[in-house]
Amino acid sequence: MLYKSTRGGEQVCAAEAIARGIASDGGLFVPEGFPAVTVEDIKGLVGQDYLVQAAFVLEKYLTDYGKDEVRELVGKAYSQEAFPDKPVVLRKVAEGVSVLELWHGPTFAFKDMALQLLPHLLIKAVEKTGEKKEVVILVATSGDTGKAALEGFADVAGTRIIVFYPEQGVSQIQKLQMLTQTGKNVDVLAVQGNFDDAQSGVKEIFNDKALAEQLAQAGYCFSSANSINWGRLVPQIVYYFSAYAKAVEDGSVRLGDKVNFVVPTGNFGNILAGFYARCMGLPVGKFVCASNSNNVLADFIATGVYDRRRKFHKTISPSMDILVSSNLERLLYHLTDGDAVQVAGWMKDLAEKGSYDVGKHYRERLQGLFFGCWVDDGLTEKTIADVFFRHKYLLDTHTAVAWLACEQYREVSGDDRHAIVLSTASPFKFADAVLKSVESLVSSVAEPFVALTRLSDLSGLSVPKAMKSLENMSVLHDKVVSPEGMKAAVKELLGVK
Ligand SMILES: *Cc1c(COP(=O)(O)O)cnc(C)c1O
Repeated sequence: MLYKSTRGGEQVCAAEAIARGIASDGGLFVPEGFPAVTVEDIKGLVGQDYLVQAAFVLEKYLTDYGKDEVRELVGKAYSQEAFPDKPVVLRKVAEGVSVLELWHGPTFAFKDMALQLLPHLLIKAVEKTGEKKEVVILVATSGDTGKAALEGFADVAGTRIIVFYPEQGVSQIQKLQMLTQTGKNVDVLAVQGNFDDAQSGVKEIFNDKALAEQLAQAGYCFSSANSINWGRLVPQIVYYFSAYAKAVEDGSVRLGDKVNFVVPTGNFGNILAGFYARCMGLPVGKFVCASNSNNVLADFIATGVYDRRRKFHKTISPSMDILVSSNLERLLYHLTDGDAVQVAGWMKDLAEKGSYDVGKHYRERLQGLFFGCWVDDGLTEKTIADVFFRHKYLLDTHTAVAWLACEQYREVSGDDRHAIVLSTASPFKFADAVLKSVESLVSSVAEPFVALTRLSDLSGLSVPKAMKSLENMSVLHDKVVSPEGMKAAVKELLGVK
């Protein structure tokens, strides 16, 4: 399987796409085709271990990695140690609705599903491409990617990792998780701005040819652990197949029947992985794309116009506080059957005017696959309480957005196919907001560890150990930079002038 840039140009193998992270024309790497999976194949996945399901999907895309190699890397990533429970759990929570829990990894968010595997894929990729330089992973995070990437890359030989997070844009637990990160090769910096500022800063550093040259001389090359990297996206395709196989196994769907997936969305990586699964042959009806008050995607799906020129909202689902969804570029490429010139034009409009319009034809294609919906903080809180009291199930703030989007979609469309809601974080990770929702407190609990205990008492679930222990760990990172200062900070950390 070969990969191309969404903006035209080069053709590379999987290892090179993963090692480089982003194409030299600023585009994202996309597969040239979709490996076909039949209903018979899917039948073979029913009842199988996640490791088997993962190897089955991944070896179709990572053809320049040997099958044994893929199996070995998958075994390392989804080990018992990293995922003491099963890597993914499907729970039937209400009639016709299951929740796919993707947060049983080390940092309690779904990012672990990809970021436990990415370092292994990357190290092998570097080996394969003959790259001798130290790989510097630059990360912009809305909260969860940062910690998951730090966990994945800490003390991995041949790598350095530098994480930028918006100073005021992450939950207290998320911040503590990152600031207490140990490892000889890790740095964490706060950016005085929002996630989009951090993300554009990182993209600029990637696209700075002079800087790349300078770093190359000092023995460094950049790569990305954000979902612009194909190595972040491809592991996520697996759990769509896994979820379907589990839904067949527990009798929620008949083999071959379509299901709908509902995805709490920010950078469009998670839901795009589902789109790839569908293109490969997974029986999917609709994807419901659920956003918070940063509703740029819901508007885009409704109108075909992507317009980032709007107020940025800080919400209780901070990992979805994003106005520029990077991975949409990949979807546009596939929607236009690979029209790189068209995609590059839209991306230019976005950069220069802040918006682009895909027109009626592509809008209708988009609407055939996706339903967009957004939910504000008030309704998110109400949904957490409703689901907790009606179904005895505790949702985190991001998953609650998706749950309500699921209900709204069913009501509006009358489509009552079995729905699988992707659950992207443990409720403990956003304990403060979750607790406030179920206790109907007027104000939130300022002390995050008090909130953890209270939430545990209320729900009967135990606080994850790694989260409790944060209280006694020392803060190791305290650097703060302006968005304009990000490049200088990277140079200083790497010791180049
Ligand atoms: C990252 C994240 C999202 C958004 O996922 P995308 O792939 O960026 O669309 C949703 N919920 C949580 C908890 C996350 O960490």
